[in-house]
Amino acid sequence: MKIDSNTIQTDNKLPLVEEFFSLQGEGYHTGKAAYFIRIGGCDVGCSWCDSRYSWNQNLHPMVETKTIIENVLKSGTDSVVVTGGEPLMWNLDFLCSELKKRNISTFIETSGAYPLSGEWDWICLSPKKNSPPVNDICGIADELKVIIQDKSDYEWAEKYRDLVSTECRLFLQPEWSRFAINVSDIVEYIKKNPYWRISLQSHKYMHIP
Ligand code: SF4
Repeated sequence: MKIDSNTIQTDNKLPLVEEFFSLQGEGYHTGKAAYFIRIGGCDVGCSWCDSRYSWNQNLHPMVETKTIIENVLKSGTDSVVVTGGEPLMWNLDFLCSELKKRNISTFIETSGAYPLSGEWDWICLSPKKNSPPVNDICGIADELKVIIQDKSDYEWAEKYRDLVSTECRLFLQPEWSRFAINVSDIVEYIKKNPYWRISLQSHKYMHIP
């Protein structure tokens, strides 16, 4: 059963898995410096998930949002990427409003499996078959990033291409563990369907978080 995103946050704290200043490795903003905030909790259950350690929110400390903001400011960044886990399990209104007050740009990576909260400069939607997007996030997503694990994922990608706006940037991203098997298919698919771009997890090649 889905948890109401507006009930899960208490006392402006969030279960913090990790936070770090790095480069965005994937998608439209690849190569851009940003401070990453990984929030715990996810029940989507992707078989290939590379951040399983984030799934159980109870394994991670509840940290005051203001402490997280202080750490963001100390880094000197102008951009924050909120990721997970599935960050929209939590109400992110307070986090975003505090970041925006300080002129920090806000980016989110989400499956859309929970209702949207927070104010975002960039929404990267990565819909998952196990738990599809629940609301009208498709129409306001800035970027659609579909993970390709097998051939059925192309159909899934095209379904969501039809649901996002015409301005939305479209990316296919090889699932990391099957990269060698799938990458040539993805290249051929994009040659035939050039509205897509490929997204590579460049941070993994650079061995950075
Ligand atoms: Fe992992 Fe993201 Fe899927 Fe959750 S939605 S299981 S964090 S890949």
